Amino acid sequence: MKKFIPALAIASLTLGCAATQEPSQAPKTSTKVNNVIMIVADGMGPAFTSAYRYYADDPITINVEQTVFDRHLVGMSSTYPDHVSGRVTDSAAGATALATGEKTYNGAISVDGEKKHIETVLQRAKKHGKKTGVVVTSQVNHATPAAYITHNESRRNYNEIADSYIDNDIQFDVLLGGGWQYFIREDRNLVTEFKNAGFEYIDSFQQLTQTNTDNKLLGLFADVGLPPAIDNSGGKLLDMTKTALKHLENPQGFFMLIEASQVDWAAHSNDINSAMAEMHDLAKTLTFLEQYVAKHPDTQVVLTADHSTGGLTLAAKGEYRWSPELLRKMKSSTYAAAEKLLTMEVNQANIAELLANTEISKDDVAALAKAKQNAERKLKTYEALSTEQQKEQRKPNVHFALYKALNKIIDNKTNTGWTTSGHTAIDVPVFAIGNQSDLLRGLQDNTDIANTVFSLVEK
Ligand SMILES: [Zn+2]
Repeated sequence: MKKFIPALAIASLTLGCAATQEPSQAPKTSTKVNNVIMIVADGMGPAFTSAYRYYADDPITINVEQTVFDRHLVGMSSTYPDHVSGRVTDSAAGATALATGEKTYNGAISVDGEKKHIETVLQRAKKHGKKTGVVVTSQVNHATPAAYITHNESRRNYNEIADSYIDNDIQFDVLLGGGWQYFIREDRNLVTEFKNAGFEYIDSFQQLTQTNTDNKLLGLFADVGLPPAIDNSGGKLLDMTKTALKHLENPQGFFMLIEASQVDWAAHSNDINSAMAEMHDLAKTLTFLEQYVAKHPDTQVVLTADHSTGGLTLAAKGEYRWSPELLRKMKSSTYAAAEKLLTMEVNQANIAELLANTEISKDDVAALAKAKQNAERKLKTYEALSTEQQKEQRKPNVHFALYKALNKIIDNKTNTGWTTSGHTAIDVPVFAIGNQSDLLRGLQDNTDIANTVFSLVEK
């Protein structure tokens, strides 16, 4: 409280003798935005933030507590792509709309229907003398980060996209995420090239706290995407965000893209356990940024999703129940649990142990045992085929079959429903922290969000 008394005194003084007071002596109202942090939660439709509220709820109290998302909700956004791709967007067209303000075809990385490059908010920020950074939990050349940094006619051209990060004038000062296999290749070692271009390179999470913050920074921590948040004890979204901020802070300001990439991946697999863990990772990052904006009022944070994934439903099959209790107790990803089941006997005790000591029925055991046997039998049949025949079909995967069966059991326990393994066209929520948040209020289109961000990075 003490701290505020002088400020109040100055304020009344300013009001009292406005005519003689120099403007510089007036209390700072900080309407100017110097830094913009754009967060894309890939696949996070409205059901995910609702689910997270129940998941994060304190079970001791009767009320369902607000989450950090609830505190900053400002509106909704439509997500549809260019009409040539119908009404359901993929991450490439979604990210292009958010990054450039233009709708394009699914698969496009910040190019229009004629494959012409469209300038992105990150590139514009760089032009205006700001530092720029990208922090993701996918590989750094995945659709969303790529759509902010570069241009390509197809998101699938992973090597080309990675090459363009250095070939077409380096657009960023910080890049953190996964992707060794695209950066360290037989034909080219982009890590060496980035080092030669003056970048500090780190490849372990422990190094995140040991970087020289004067340097430009490239951090790659996995072959492809990072480990799922629930299995990752080292470098989560928050750790990477903190390091990136230290490298980006400067008088000219910065633009940073943060992507919670794997909400989408969990939802594609209809995996509610990982979906909630990824949401928790994002919530912790947003809570940190809430405090960051309080300390740095010239920073504006915008958070939205590119689309919703999985058709997540909180209560399935006509039963009025959604029970996240089991999810709160889970200590590993369902994918990792399934891997353990490859070498474990499928019995009640083992499954219960893998699922946070939850009660396992005989039917659950039978379903898992059947999934394992079927997949093993299919694999045997496959292995007996000629190489030519094998090329024509997908190799049966026992691990994946167990993963799917475990997801089903968790869905039954929590009464979670999914309508698709793909995306849906439902609107997504928009959140904002900072003194320009009113610009994002109400129902907007994803292209409107980009236009607002353009106006902010130009100031
Ligand atoms: Zn997706």
